[in-house]
Amino acid sequence: MVKAAINRGPSPEPPPGTRILVVGGGYVGMYTALRLQRELKAQLRDGRVGITVVAPDPYMTYQPFLPEAAAGSISPRHVVVPLRRVLDRCHIVIGEARSIDHAARTATVTTLATEEEEGTGPVEIAYDELVLAPGSISRTLPVPGLADYAIGFKTVEEAIGLRNHVIEQMDIASSTRDPAVRDAALTFVFVGGGYAGVEALAELEDMARYTARYYHNIKPEDLKWILVEASDRILPEVGEEMGQYAIRELRGRNIDVRLETRLDSCENRVAVLSDGARFPTRTVVWTAGVKPAPILAATDLPLTERGRLKCTAKLQVEGVEQAWAAGDAAAVPDVTSAEKDKECAPNAQHAVRQAKVLAENIAASVNGKPLREYAHKYVGSVASLGLHKGVAHVYGRKLKGYPAWFMHRAYHLSRVPTFNRKARVLAEWTLAGLFKREIVSLGSLEHPRAEFELAAGGGPAKPGPKPGPEPGSGPGPKGPGGKEN
Ligand SMILES: Cc1cc2nc3c(=O)[nH]c(=O)nc-3n(C[C@H](O)[C@H](O)[C@H](O)COP(=O)(O)OP(=O)(O)OC[C@H]3O[C@@H](n4cnc5c(N)ncnc54)[C@H](O)[C@@H]3O)c2cc1C
Repeated sequence: MVKAAINRGPSPEPPPGTRILVVGGGYVGMYTALRLQRELKAQLRDGRVGITVVAPDPYMTYQPFLPEAAAGSISPRHVVVPLRRVLDRCHIVIGEARSIDHAARTATVTTLATEEEEGTGPVEIAYDELVLAPGSISRTLPVPGLADYAIGFKTVEEAIGLRNHVIEQMDIASSTRDPAVRDAALTFVFVGGGYAGVEALAELEDMARYTARYYHNIKPEDLKWILVEASDRILPEVGEEMGQYAIRELRGRNIDVRLETRLDSCENRVAVLSDGARFPTRTVVWTAGVKPAPILAATDLPLTERGRLKCTAKLQVEGVEQAWAAGDAAAVPDVTSAEKDKECAPNAQHAVRQAKVLAENIAASVNGKPLREYAHKYVGSVASLGLHKGVAHVYGRKLKGYPAWFMHRAYHLSRVPTFNRKARVLAEWTLAGLFKREIVSLGSLEHPRAEFELAAGGGPAKPGPKPGPEPGSGPGPKGPGGKEN
């Protein structure tokens, strides 16, 4: 085990001043570190404080833009924010915390180099103050075939992979002579009616319908889109009335919305639903909720029954000192609610605001000042249902159609971090208004060596679209989440 000094990288030198370790580079991790840079500017300059951020990727993902990235309205690079540029006074470690021993104030971290380094093992990072913000992962259920054939929708890789996959399915459908292969290729099943699932489906359907005009043998009506939701409503974030509107809008586009229905199985590329319906398909997208990141279980910190970190309204981990948390990973009491024991919901609205209070409280604690409580009343939500279509319920005002879609864009443009990103996204939207939509699939980017391997006479041939066996007849090439070959 290598001992790491907190702001000098993995070296055994003694760290200066108060060592703050931030685990996670998402909403909470990035915004907390950003605010800490500002609040503790002087201390950072003279070495009385050091901040280290551990994150698996060198960027923060602005998740609400993922559906638009999947639709091709925003390029993937503009959905992410480079941590090194934004957090220029922090020490960034690209890696994953594997366990945390808070009693000993150490985190065990594997970095990109860990596997390459022989005999040294993971890095051990010592700290004084811990900010634990690893967010959440997809909450899956033991549905047969799910791990093999489905894909989630939480990362930019998944969003772009799904876009490529959908267009590739249209290419398969256009070129196959087998009607069963064609039918399965043009059937897309989405599970989960929250904003991730609904926005992803709506944006992709919109994109695919537009793309169909460039295929001589595919009509938009040939594409089958199915939304499966276990409860009796979708988009609970925008309220019942707007949720009903969203259902009508989707059904009006021929999208098959099935409420009070579950996915029972997707083995052998057949989606079997609890209402008895069976859909041969090559695409199952799972967005049925989230659960706290697994690292939380590898700490000595207190967790709730649902596995979130038990926190106080001051964003401290309950019952321990010098540990802080916020966002999807933290069970923060909602002090604005009359309901007893109500927790803040896992969403960006809370995550961003909690990060601000969290950073201010850490700065207050370092400077010996009093801490304040986090209090924010949920103001509602906006959701996009494709280009020029949307639904919103914000501050009691209900909007639908174009005004809601416009509000969705304006809101997220104001929220996406850095002026640089705002300008780039706005430029993309403006250009998209002037030119035709991009309809290309760059799935081959996922296999950059294939062409050369073929030329060099070794390895597999370039992975092209493989129709595989007839859907339902046995395991074929995996769905968008699985690795081919
Ligand atoms: C498609 C989609 C659309 C959404 N749209 C909206 C919306 O419109 N409005 C809204 O309010 N919310 C929305 N959300 C939810 C919102 O994005 C989350 O609530 C928010 O990102 C939570 O912030 P967080 O910092 O807790 O987690 P995240 O932003 O997920 O960040 C967690 C970070 O920690 C990292 N991490 C995980 N494990 C480790 C580890 N062991 N070591 C180091 N780092 C680790 C992760 O890689 C990630 O970078 C959406 C989510 C999705 C997926």
